[in-house]
Amino acid sequence: MAARILNGTKIRDTIMGELAEQIRGLKAAGITPGLAAVLVGENPASQIYVRSKVKTCESLGLHSEKIELPADTSTEQLLQLVHDLNHRDEIDGILVQLPLPPQVDSKTVLEAVSPAKDVDGFHPVNIGNLVSGRLGLVPCTPAGIIEILRRSGVAIEGARAVVIGRSDIVGKPVAMLLLHNHSTVTICHSKTRDLPAVAREGDILVAAMGKAAFVTGEFIKPGATVIDVGINRLTTEEEVRRIFHDPAAPLEKLRSKGSVLVGDVQPEDVQEKAGAYTPVPGGVGPLTIAMLMTNTVRAAKLRRGIHWTQPVGH
Ligand code: NDP
Repeated sequence: MAARILNGTKIRDTIMGELAEQIRGLKAAGITPGLAAVLVGENPASQIYVRSKVKTCESLGLHSEKIELPADTSTEQLLQLVHDLNHRDEIDGILVQLPLPPQVDSKTVLEAVSPAKDVDGFHPVNIGNLVSGRLGLVPCTPAGIIEILRRSGVAIEGARAVVIGRSDIVGKPVAMLLLHNHSTVTICHSKTRDLPAVAREGDILVAAMGKAAFVTGEFIKPGATVIDVGINRLTTEEEVRRIFHDPAAPLEKLRSKGSVLVGDVQPEDVQEKAGAYTPVPGGVGPLTIAMLMTNTVRAAKLRRGIHWTQPVGH
């Protein structure tokens, strides 16, 4: 039987619809949640990300501010800006787009963001909240993964979940969320012995390693649910031929678009062996921005003592 595709774009649209309704309710009560996006320098990818976050805010009726600073901004200048945003009442969420230029002490800047406005969920206080199962702001991509699993009816409770990758942004928080949802979780990394055999134990397999199509058929338990977090851009024919068993269609795409996106999972193998999987593009990616918007609304509620019904991921 063909594997079921977990359509992230559709799930994102549903979440956005639900959020729009919540925002209308808040606005009727005189509250317009607001997001400040801080962009330092001229990294083209960061510019695209920030533009799309601000655009999404606008489409939902959220207040948003894009604050652009020159590439030579100092740590002290950024700390002053974050301090000002922490104290502005119309700002509920502060997003400092990464990466920051090398002269900036990123850790200090991220820790200066008030935990109540930390919509990326990177502040140590929110990490502590996540680990101890308290209400807080949860990192967006991991929260999005749980939304995909839940809304697709994938059984999380009691499942064996294997996460490949242990980053603070994806691997560790998604493992923690799966644990809170009663999976039995294994976290793998670059020193894991016999990775394919460990991965094959997963009823749910999350690939978040940043290595194009690394997870091949031998990593996948037949019928497993595979969540592919990776986003890798292939730009040469050689790469496309190395990765795809049948490279005709991706080569055509490479010629017409100049690049081909591939996740951390081999796309043909996953179709053949998994029971369900997230495609790249159109899987996990669309959820990340939806969860940022969700966190902004949650931050607005949390700061005003309005609790949401269910803490994300718990
Ligand atoms: P990091 O580079 O921070 O972490 C990668 C992790 O993978 C590390 O823990 C590393 O292990 C592990 N790893 C690397 N190579 C191997 C290997 N050969 N075997 C086993 N483990 C390995 O990446 P991120 O977590 O930030 O991102 C992961 C991927 O997700 C990237 O492709 C990124 O682009 C994508 N991403 C997608 C998002 C989305 O919205 N869809 C959002 C965020 C990220 P070790 O710790 O031992 O070095």
